[in-house]
This record gives sequence, structure tokens and C-alpha cells, in this order.
Amino acid sequence: MVYKSNPWQRLPACCVLCGIALHGPLDLCAPCASELPLHQGGCPRCAMPLDGAGGAPCGQCQRQPPQFDACIAALRYEYPVRELIAHFKFRGDLAAGRVLALLLAQRIATLGPAYRAGITLVPVPLHRVRLAERGFNQSERVARVLARELALPMAPALAARARRTDDQKSLDAAARRRNLGTAFTAAPCRGRRFALVDDVITTGATLDALAAALRAAGAVQVEAWCLARSL
Ligand SMILES: [Zn+2]
Ligand SMILES: [Zn+2]
Repeated sequence: MVYKSNPWQRLPACCVLCGIALHGPLDLCAPCASELPLHQGGCPRCAMPLDGAGGAPCGQCQRQPPQFDACIAALRYEYPVRELIAHFKFRGDLAAGRVLALLLAQRIATLGPAYRAGITLVPVPLHRVRLAERGFNQSERVARVLARELALPMAPALAARARRTDDQKSLDAAARRRNLGTAFTAAPCRGRRFALVDDVITTGATLDALAAALRAAGAVQVEAWCLARSL
């Protein structure tokens, strides 16, 4: 069941984790923020955590590079990020989603304005049946926050899910890729640069399929910007 209007969201701002009253722009208190599992470093292509620094892609990306050029994930998909994302997606807790999106915006802002210049945001589309069930597209909500905070344009209608894919959770990486092979269509976008926006990157198969569709439509650069990296 989806609650489209959560009465708690109308209360004065409070920390999404501990509930303490707050007055800043972020609904997260400093002690809770300091305990969040920030995700730094990792593979520059897929954000998978790596042993040691160095900046070289992980073995998987060296063997079979993804269709996206780079991946940024602000957090690791573990407690309490996992719970916040579940509340956001499945219980319509938009305050939780907004906090995570603001953390992702802060992370991208630290890379400087030149990094994001010329980039258009493309939220990963939901199939219309799933959209009707959930009532909102979580990736679009995240992209809206990024667009506002980073002053970037957004193209939510550029790509579409061509068909409903099977539930990905039960599939391994190869099966996910097959399942997603023709899942997306994209309007012509020759020479343009994009950042795909998603909540969690797991195998990367969904982002890979969407990036492939944008490249086929003419995109010259495609990044993936995600709230969290699942290991
Ligand atoms: Zn707190
Ligand atoms: Zn990698």
C-alpha cells in the first residue's frame, strides 16, 4: 500500500532518523548525519568499493565496461540508508528521499561546477504500470532535487521503458542484462551529455540498459548518479 500523503511530513522539520526537531534545510541532525555510511572512492566506472586507492576501474569494468562512463553513489546501501530508501519508495516517505537526494547533490557539488556543466538529468523511468502502483517515480523525485540544487536541466520524458521487465531481484547479473536488453527507448539526443539518476545501483544492469539506449540515440556522455551503492 502506498500512502501518498504521510501526515508526519506536515509536521515542523524533524530528523528523518531520530525525530529530533530541526531548523536547517536538511531534515537530518548532525549526530545522525555523522553516522551515515558515506561512500567515497570505489571504482570510477561503477562505484563498487575497491581495496586501496588508485582510481583504476575494478576488474569487472576492465573486462566488460558498462555503457555509462562514470558512477557516483553518495552512500553505501546498508543500515540506515537501506531503511530510508525503503520508506521513501514503498511508504511514500518523501522527506527521507529528499534528505538522501540532498546528500547526493552535496556530493556532486563538491566536484565543482565544471564537472556538471552541460549535463542534463534523466531519471530512470518506471514502467507505467509500476508508476500507477507506486504513485510516483522515486528516481524522478531524486532528479528534481538535484535539478534544483545543482541548477541542472532535467529531461524526464527523453527515455521510456518500452516494456515491463520481470522482477529483477531473483535474477543474476547475466539474466538481468538479458531481461533488460530492449527495456528502454530514447528520443534522438545527438551530441548531448547526461546523468542518469537512480535510487540504488546494484548490478548496474538497469543503468547499463538505459545508458545503451541513450548512446544509440546519439548521447556522447552518460554518467550514473545514485543515492546508494549496493555491494
Ligand atoms: Zn537525528
Ligand atoms: Zn567497476
